[in-house]
Amino acid sequence: MPARAEARDLGAFDLTVIGGGAAGLWSALVAAEEGGRVCLVSRKPLAESSSFHAQGGLAAALDPSDSPAQHFEDTMAAGRNLCRASAVEILTAEGPGIVDDLIRRGMNFDREPDGSLSLALEGGHGHRRIIHAGGSQTGREITSALAQMVADMDRIEVLEETSAVALVGDGERCHGVVTESGVIFSPATLMASGGAAALWRRTSNPWGAIGAGPVLASLAGAELADLEFCQFHPTCLSAPGTAFDGALITEAIRGEGATLLDSDGNRFTDELAPRDDVTAAIIAQSQKQDGQPVRIDLTSIDPARFPSVFQLLESAGFDGTSEPVPISPGAHYMMGGISVDLDGRTSVAGLYAAGECACTGLHGANRLASNSLTECFVFGRRAAIAGLQEEASAAPALPDWEFDPPQPPTREAVWEFAGPLRNAADLARLAGDPYPLARAIGATALNRRESRGGHRRTDFQDTDPDLDFTHLIYLPDGEIELRRWD
Ligand SMILES: Cc1cc2nc3c(=O)[nH]c(=O)nc-3n(C[C@H](O)[C@H](O)[C@H](O)COP(=O)(O)OP(=O)(O)OC[C@H]3O[C@@H](n4cnc5c(N)ncnc54)[C@H](O)[C@@H]3O)c2cc1C
Repeated sequence: MPARAEARDLGAFDLTVIGGGAAGLWSALVAAEEGGRVCLVSRKPLAESSSFHAQGGLAAALDPSDSPAQHFEDTMAAGRNLCRASAVEILTAEGPGIVDDLIRRGMNFDREPDGSLSLALEGGHGHRRIIHAGGSQTGREITSALAQMVADMDRIEVLEETSAVALVGDGERCHGVVTESGVIFSPATLMASGGAAALWRRTSNPWGAIGAGPVLASLAGAELADLEFCQFHPTCLSAPGTAFDGALITEAIRGEGATLLDSDGNRFTDELAPRDDVTAAIIAQSQKQDGQPVRIDLTSIDPARFPSVFQLLESAGFDGTSEPVPISPGAHYMMGGISVDLDGRTSVAGLYAAGECACTGLHGANRLASNSLTECFVFGRRAAIAGLQEEASAAPALPDWEFDPPQPPTREAVWEFAGPLRNAADLARLAGDPYPLARAIGATALNRRESRGGHRRTDFQDTDPDLDFTHLIYLPDGEIELRRWD
């Protein structure tokens, strides 16, 4: 990249969006439709976002016998007394409208023979309320449709295969982005760079999910929140030493009757309990059977319903139609991220965040399945609209720092020391890690002296009621503050 003083000026926009997943594409689209000039920066081709890989679908209360109030209750219960109720209320109330909007724009969600939307069940949901497209290819269908809408929109300029490497700011306000191709100035910058679950070696996520957004935001002066909460998905394929280790077997398949079996072939847990419970049950069972993985039995499932799952298993050398396949938990979703209000505002003026890189507090300590795609749309829209209200001001000098990606030893260390079961001695070892987000995860997990949701401490196994609805805020100087949100 050219020296900063010579960095190419790529122009001025009303809004710069960093990330080409569901949150980035959707917020760029909304902002352009509201009349903004938008630049969308995406490190990878769109096929490499987590959104593209989403298998289950989008959660919204769509059935006449369901309601946003019941979706609210299920989300709050899964979040283990840590969800920000105001965020959950917005998600559950605005979710059905987002689905209508997507259908009006031509999205084809799967339907029953009578033409009604086909609604699936996933763990922790008291109702069938997950819509999908192309069976287990929902992410692919949604991102392809959104990418086409973005391409058709004159007011959006797309910079693909270009990374954001720094934010232009003075600690108080963000004025734009330094990318590998040059500098973009805009009164509002919206981070939609996805999650950080690939910081853990064993993961269902594409390798780019390394939390670049929270690192850039923190270096620019923004607060992060809830970093101790990563969701470990219970049913990731166990195929150690192969490229398929950690691949996701969607929860929707358990909603259709797949069961979990111990080494004697017996069921040992409620397959449709919230994810943190199923993960804990699998870890305990695997310990009981001397580290042997438990198995998922898919033999009663019609492969035509989940073609991508059965294809994946076949490529990995398993025949899911004839015998149970080994699974064990893997890092899947980051509940924490850049701390934002309900309109995506971070603690730095002009800097917004939405999607998995953001933390509204919506998911609490344990995300309810399929709430995250809905979140990308609901909160991506709100952040885009709020961002367009920002006014341009004189930009400071370009920053002298640049994002430095994590190396393989960091991923090993994060899995080893901040995995599904943690303790103080291990977490303390992350303090010297070269990657700032690994240090921040270690510090917050060390400071939360209890077990709750995705955060399980072997040295503090109980949940501390005094910490209900209390969030650990990671400040830019590395200090941690406890905060309660409205
Ligand atoms: C296998 C899998 C299955 C899932 N299934 C479901 C599901 O069924 N339902 C559900 O609700 N959720 C599901 N999730 C979670 C959900 O997909 C994600 O939470 C959601 O898609 C995140 O969207 P996003 O737009 O925030 O980020 P992403 O979709 O990850 O997009 C992030 C984008 O930012 C880009 N980027 C990153 N860093 C930079 C940078 N420095 N500069 C420029 N660009 C950058 C990336 O290249 C990418 O384009 C699943 C996740 C996985 C991995």
